[in-house]
Amino acid sequence: MAGLTLVAGAGGFIGGQLVRDLAAEGTAVRAVDCKPFDLWFQRCDEAQNQMLDLRELRACETATKGVEEVYNLAADMGGMGFIERNKALCMLSVLINTHLLMAARANGVARFFFSSSACVYADSRQRETDGPPLKESDAYPAMPEDGYGWEKLFSERMCRHFREDFGIATRIGRYHNVYGPFGTWEGGREKAPAAISRKAAAAVLTGRHEIEIWGDGEQTRSFMHIDDCLKGTKMLMHSDFVHPLNIGSDELVSINGLVDIVEEIAGVRLKRRYNLDAPKGVRGRNSDNSLIRRVLGWAPSIKLKDGMEKTYRWIYDQMKMRAEGRPFVAACG
Ligand code: NAD
Repeated sequence: MAGLTLVAGAGGFIGGQLVRDLAAEGTAVRAVDCKPFDLWFQRCDEAQNQMLDLRELRACETATKGVEEVYNLAADMGGMGFIERNKALCMLSVLINTHLLMAARANGVARFFFSSSACVYADSRQRETDGPPLKESDAYPAMPEDGYGWEKLFSERMCRHFREDFGIATRIGRYHNVYGPFGTWEGGREKAPAAISRKAAAAVLTGRHEIEIWGDGEQTRSFMHIDDCLKGTKMLMHSDFVHPLNIGSDELVSINGLVDIVEEIAGVRLKRRYNLDAPKGVRGRNSDNSLIRRVLGWAPSIKLKDGMEKTYRWIYDQMKMRAEGRPFVAACG
């Protein structure tokens, strides 16, 4: 088991779940986020919880003191609606990863995980709904998603050079859409699985059986359940594999197909309204999992239907609790 482990971005979706997971395994965890504690999606009493703005080098030095391993999940990010409209904010996350790497080096951190994204892949490879799944080598020649994707690709290379020049064991996971309970489900940063679950739950709760869909609904994606994400992240962190690796599901679904799944779980049929002016991202995206199977002997496998069942129920409960005036309680089990 690792010594003290820092989870950066611990107030967010993946970071919060990772803190809970590591603490349950008995790992000593320092959990850091810039949000006030009452806005953290989950907070774990067993962890050292700290509120720090990791764009600042000083804060990164404090966060990494005495730490053996760092998981960097901190970034200013969201779904397409957010990243298409906030390119500068997305690029400023470069400060977090750069300063965390510098502080990690100064404090003798042994291992460092960076959460990259499928947005590093060029749009030109994602223009068909049924195009070939994305292989890691497809990231070059580079033309990533403007703003968010460029920051991820640049930070991947920063990790690579800190490993080559300064000997920190950096590991890079390219996440493809992650979903599950305790994720963002409203406010403009949510992604398709949470947004569609929220709209379906609202239809059930209000009796207005309609849904707005961004684009024509034929665009395709793959969605990885949070439990697979955590497993892949920890396996990659402790493997010998030093290059960027896809961590994503290869179960391809159209957005219309995702709505079908949620309708079945929610027990409603919704009248679909297509908003063709809304941000819709690339036309088709799937993860090629040949490399992860080869290097980790494993790949994400939780079926979308099973993962969405838990996600929809969680979002429905949040909305029902709110409607009944019961506050959401951030907690760690
Ligand atoms: P999230 O937005 O839920 O969590 C990110 C957290 O980082 C937030 O709590 C935020 O407050 C924190 N943060 C932002 N700026 C900070 C700062 N200056 N100092 C300290 N904390 C700061 O996002 P998430 O879904 O948990 O994503 C985690 C990581 O995985 C991010 O790097 C993201 O780019 C990457 N990723 C996520 C997905 C996905 O589908 N969720 C897909 C690809 C990549």
